[in-house]
Amino acid sequence: MKIDVLTLFPAMFAGPLDESIIKRARESGLLDLRVHNLRDYAHDRHRTVDDRPFGGGPGMLLKPEPIFEAVENLTSEITRIILLSPSGRTFNQAIAGELAESKDLLLISGHYEGFDERVREQLADDELSIGDYVLTNGALPAMVIIDAVTRLLPGVLGDEESAHEESFSHGLLEYPQYTRPADFRGMKVPDVLLSGDHAEIARGRGEQALVRTSERRPDLL
Ligand code: SAM
Repeated sequence: MKIDVLTLFPAMFAGPLDESIIKRARESGLLDLRVHNLRDYAHDRHRTVDDRPFGGGPGMLLKPEPIFEAVENLTSEITRIILLSPSGRTFNQAIAGELAESKDLLLISGHYEGFDERVREQLADDELSIGDYVLTNGALPAMVIIDAVTRLLPGVLGDEESAHEESFSHGLLEYPQYTRPADFRGMKVPDVLLSGDHAEIARGRGEQALVRTSERRPDLL
């Protein structure tokens, strides 16, 4: 999968996406990630990407010209163009799964007070928020989405099962899990997990996932 990111802060992407599973996905070619500086598409002396809003109000808005030019340069007819914005639909595991089916994504990351509305209307196929709070810019939301989507690409996770058995994959939170020792300071692992009875273990885990979800996230049920 190819993911392009348009941002004013390309340097923010070094680090989080250069470690562990995402690093391996990039090295193996499963993820082709390209981070582009929006300023490269601004052609005046100061490489201006923002301006004051018509009608007044605080802050600055991202101008349409550099974003339109970048999109025209970076996309093809198969690219899904996603604007990162607190006004978008809230990103979740189901949307991550949907995006993982795409071959080509462009994530457009905002700054200041956000985008000129024409970017929204004319360019975006989708608008995503990572939650009901406001961040200073869209680099962290872009990285969250890239991470969540990449780990769903076939071949990225070592154990394919781990993406199927976890929180949200069946609409539930994950069941509680334990590792050795079976008795730690008197806190014991449930007997069923030591029983070797796989059908019973699966039944118990299903039950626990349901209990946990109804206690913590009844909205998912
Ligand atoms: N004025 C905007 C509003 O009230 O919705 C907030 C702009 S925010 C300071 C700057 C940029 O950060 C946004 O254009 C967006 O790209 C990104 N951003 C901030 N919070 C976000 C969130 N929760 N989800 C996705 N992107 C976000």
